Amino acid sequence: MKNLGKHAIVIGASMSGLLAARVLSDFYTTVTVLERDAFPSADIPRKGVPQGRHAHGLLARGSQLIEELFPGYNDEVVTQSGGLLGDVANDVLWIGRNVTLANGKSDLIGLLASRPVLEGNLRRRLLKLPNVRAMPDCAVRGLASDSARKHVTGVRMRVEGGPEEIVNADLIVDATGRGSSSATWLEELGYLPPAIERVEIGIGYMSRTYRRRPTDLNGKLGIVVAASAPNWRNAAMLAQESDSWIVSTGGFLGDEAPDDDRGFLAYLATLPTMQIHDVIASAEPLGDYRRYRYGYSLRRRYEKLARFPGNYLVFGDAICSFNPVYGQGMTVAAQEALTLQQCLLHAGSNELARRFFRAATKIVDIPWDIAVGNDLRNPHVEGARSSMLRFINWYIGKLHVAATRDSTLTTAFLNVVNLMIPPSSLLDPAIAWRVWRGQREARAAGPVARRPLRTDEWGEYVGTRGRK
Ligand SMILES: Cc1cc2nc3c(=O)[nH]c(=O)nc-3n(C[C@H](O)[C@H](O)[C@H](O)COP(=O)(O)OP(=O)(O)OC[C@H]3O[C@@H](n4cnc5c(N)ncnc54)[C@H](O)[C@@H]3O)c2cc1C
Repeated sequence: MKNLGKHAIVIGASMSGLLAARVLSDFYTTVTVLERDAFPSADIPRKGVPQGRHAHGLLARGSQLIEELFPGYNDEVVTQSGGLLGDVANDVLWIGRNVTLANGKSDLIGLLASRPVLEGNLRRRLLKLPNVRAMPDCAVRGLASDSARKHVTGVRMRVEGGPEEIVNADLIVDATGRGSSSATWLEELGYLPPAIERVEIGIGYMSRTYRRRPTDLNGKLGIVVAASAPNWRNAAMLAQESDSWIVSTGGFLGDEAPDDDRGFLAYLATLPTMQIHDVIASAEPLGDYRRYRYGYSLRRRYEKLARFPGNYLVFGDAICSFNPVYGQGMTVAAQEALTLQQCLLHAGSNELARRFFRAATKIVDIPWDIAVGNDLRNPHVEGARSSMLRFINWYIGKLHVAATRDSTLTTAFLNVVNLMIPPSSLLDPAIAWRVWRGQREARAAGPVARRPLRTDEWGEYVGTRGRK
């Protein structure tokens, strides 16, 4: 591939940064990844990735794309770290709109392992590349630019205990997550900050790991509950390495699960399924309760800025982070990495930022619309509800009911959630007809089996209710 420069810097060695660095290694003589944290000697959670203690799974699309960049990655996570590959539509139970979707075999193969294992394997693969180096314990504090302030020439960084230094590069990628300081750093150089979209959801995830027994959940590898009325509580229980489960649960706008056994179980008992509760009630805990407060979905609209340095990119959660109930963040990072590769292949580094942001926004639109659109079903979440959004949410509700008896619809829905095909494909006449027919059949068969939830279960065990 064509060499586009001597040196590229990636700030942040989490999933997005590692994937971006892999792509850049084909185009730049040297790629340096600067990371504020130390790299742990084992695959354990670290400070800079606090969400790493909570349920993570890699969707089918993400698993495919990472395999393209790092052939053999999925097998390595399984054979070397004990991860599990599974059929997303058949090995995982999906509950949405308070109903369970019918399982059926599909070719959607996702990867289950803890977040530190997914990242650790990626980092080890990346650092085997001869032209990639990483500097842990190295915090970036700002940018350096040319006198015309047209190009960013490097970063101002500080290795733990040392003085601030400037490191020059031809291209710089910010992959520092949702707390990214790019807007501030660029403002210091005279650039305007991007417009921001924020949707307050105030979800407080509470998570804990447990020993997994082969009979749990009848051998299924996971269960995902997408929140619905009346209590709007999400949950996921996913198999991980070392015969363990990770359970994460949380409601909207401060409706958090308690961090004591009785309260946690009681909270799980208010979900539209008792399956997580029943497994956990007799399972051996393997760690403490962990809390993560996710206040709002956040999107930074860099693609709308008229003036931006051509050799500076923002990547992954630093562009957009949204309610992770469908587990799409790492897959979006992988999609952005492949898009960056295409941008570099087609027109090199010429006007790279403008081309990349334009392409990335098309990637982000889909998971953002899926996650935010779903959150806006909750009447307590503030935001504009267009008539199209209302129609789509109505239609997806009908699809869920029909999918309780039709696994083809489950697979169609999960193809969208797994970012394999666009949401509009669910309106395809063949799918719409199955939805219509399934609805009629379900109505004729009587009420769809839902666990009867009492409205007074909303917030029953929650002292923090109402806090944002
Ligand atoms: C509760 C929860 C559950 C989730 N579950 C899933 C899931 O199941 N599936 C999925 O695909 N996604 C999931 N996600 C999203 C996923 O975690 C992120 O999308 C993914 O980690 C990509 O993030 P990132 O690499 O862009 O940023 P981050 O993972 O946030 O990493 C940012 C990195 O930058 C470093 N850094 C920050 N500032 C500096 C600096 N100044 N200098 C140097 N380094 C710096 C940090 O130390 C860190 O390493 C979940 C998120 C949450 C909150």
